[in-house]
Amino acid sequence: MNFINPKLEIKLFDTLTNKIQILKTIEKNVLKMYVCGPTVYDRPHLGNARSIVVYDLFYRFFLQVFEKVIFVRNITDVDDKINNSAKEQNISIQQLTSRIIEYFYHDINALRVLKPSFEPKVTENIPEIIDLIQKLLDKNRAYIANNHILFDVSSCADYGKLSNRKIDELISGARVEIADYKKTPLDFVLWKPSDVDDDPSSIFDSPWGKGRPGWHIECSAMSLKFLGENFDIHGGGADLQFPHHENEIAQSCSANHGSNYASYWVHNGFLTVEGQKMSKSLKNFVTVFDLLNRGIKGTAIRLMLLSSHYRKPFDFNQKILEDSQKTLEKFHEILSVNEVKIALKNSQNISPEILEFLADDLNFSKVIAFMHNQLKTLKAHKNSELFTKYICNLSFLGILDESMIINDSATYDELDLNFINEQITLRQKFKAEKKYAEADEIRKNLLNFGVIIEDKPNNQIAFNFIKK
Ligand SMILES: [Zn+2]
Repeated sequence: MNFINPKLEIKLFDTLTNKIQILKTIEKNVLKMYVCGPTVYDRPHLGNARSIVVYDLFYRFFLQVFEKVIFVRNITDVDDKINNSAKEQNISIQQLTSRIIEYFYHDINALRVLKPSFEPKVTENIPEIIDLIQKLLDKNRAYIANNHILFDVSSCADYGKLSNRKIDELISGARVEIADYKKTPLDFVLWKPSDVDDDPSSIFDSPWGKGRPGWHIECSAMSLKFLGENFDIHGGGADLQFPHHENEIAQSCSANHGSNYASYWVHNGFLTVEGQKMSKSLKNFVTVFDLLNRGIKGTAIRLMLLSSHYRKPFDFNQKILEDSQKTLEKFHEILSVNEVKIALKNSQNISPEILEFLADDLNFSKVIAFMHNQLKTLKAHKNSELFTKYICNLSFLGILDESMIINDSATYDELDLNFINEQITLRQKFKAEKKYAEADEIRKNLLNFGVIIEDKPNNQIAFNFIKK
């Protein structure tokens, strides 16, 4: 048995074998997990946030039971969607991605998400991606056609094992891009050539000319770099199972002989809004920032996103939001800032029952029922040992309010000055181009971060932080 708590057996639903498995790590007492992170072209919506919060809870749990946890969540900062969005807004890709990354951190920080061990960006890992593509070419698992490098799916006998479907069925499912230069329709892009009007920051040199990597190869290259050929858990949203995760397995197992890639595959369920798929065209698109702007606490959003079992679909509606707010208020009712400060200073011990519930495929509703019971006991009789435990439990689960937490160093840093300066420069540019609405949007956004801009004579700008 490789766990610190020898009695704790971790059960996890594994998509690859389609059943609950008992987690056995490759290395004793070490857990390695990779989760597909955001593509930074837009602010995180509730679907993105659900995935982030679910794997954050897994991460918090694993930190309690393993001696060492290596958690990698990437940032995709090269992508067609990014190129298109930057073009639409008439800004550079770098301006767009640095802005969205700051927004991302701001929003998930409010959800009390811990910083992973590594957060690699695609643009910082291009040599590793090129090496992996070269390896696939050398092994005849990839080919060059029409200036693209494509993965040859027919070279991979067990392709489809994660989706549990045969190649023919996957082709007829037809969620694959059809192009006449592909050998078979399922073949996917590893490297694509740049267009003439592409932003220079999305163009990279390679042995096959200037271009950029395909989406799937990024995760294979970055997980290899940070976790090795074999690691324990790969996670992501259910929508990534096919083709993204299927393609990651195909690439990694083809390039690294004898590799199983991830031992277990975990997928979180879809998110709907009042029973409907969330989409911009249906105008039911909800971001974390929308809710924060309505004065809803990040901790309430977090609690809400965890309130359905992570594998089940989650439906966002007013009632579930209000229920989570009420639960949170109830949990906080008996707390005072001072008591929280003293409790967290003296102890970090949480109730072992919570770890047992989480070990059962992350059974969060049992955790919440347990917390209600603990609160009931405390209300009947305030026992200081139990009270300390109660506070530590709330802190561990990430549902203690910011105002209650002192020196929670594991979360993201304060807004950095480079970002503020960059935004001010961008606002000046918009003003010079008489794009006043865009300029004002930046002013408002900075205000939301607690930064006030002041226009001074001679085009000078000053800024100040709002005191909290
Ligand atoms: Zn991925």
